[in-house]
Amino acid sequence: MNVTKAEIAVSAVKPEQYPDGALPEFALAGRSNVGKSSFINKMINRKNLARTSSKPGKTQTLNFYLINESLYFVDVPGYGFARVSKKEREAWGKMMETYFTTREQLRAVVLIVDLRHPPTKDDVMMYEFLKHYQIPTIIIATKADKVPKGKWQKHLKVVRETLNIMEDDKLILFSAETGQGKEEAWAALERFL
Ligand code: GDP
Repeated sequence: MNVTKAEIAVSAVKPEQYPDGALPEFALAGRSNVGKSSFINKMINRKNLARTSSKPGKTQTLNFYLINESLYFVDVPGYGFARVSKKEREAWGKMMETYFTTREQLRAVVLIVDLRHPPTKDDVMMYEFLKHYQIPTIIIATKADKVPKGKWQKHLKVVRETLNIMEDDKLILFSAETGQGKEEAWAALERFL
């Protein structure tokens, strides 16, 4: 997809605030600092539309980015941030669950993991949650530029096996630094349009 227009449309914490209309949506999930904002920015050719690293204590919202006036990227607050209070974690969980389980416009979730390390417990829980609700998932293994090329396949295998990725779900090697995997990621998303 050639992205010519991208803008923040709404920030929402509850369904009444989600955008109206029936445009398809792709949600982006991943643990804090994994490179989610960098992924979004690379995909939409912007340096800094998606803010990098949402700070704990800040209101955690679902941010809807309208792309080419034809689809939304929904940036979901990162998980696995140790310094977040129990109350905040619960609020986050509720907001996510409501969105993921009720939103009809949601076509697929892009789950972002770090190619350098095995997926964390939180990553596994997130993937299992998505599979429990039968939500199609695209797994992006990012920061590939930090792993020597000769080790990519080995690292991908660890990601695939740790998450226990289902056959229908794509696993894509990505780098926000080099742009590697961008075309493949867009192709994977476009399958759901
Ligand atoms: P977020 O908290 O998941 O939104 O993560 P950010 O997008 O803010 O990225 C966290 C840090 O990782 C930042 O310092 C980014 O510059 C860096 N980063 C993100 N993606 C990549 C990548 O593909 N390669 C490299 N080398 N660094 C990356």
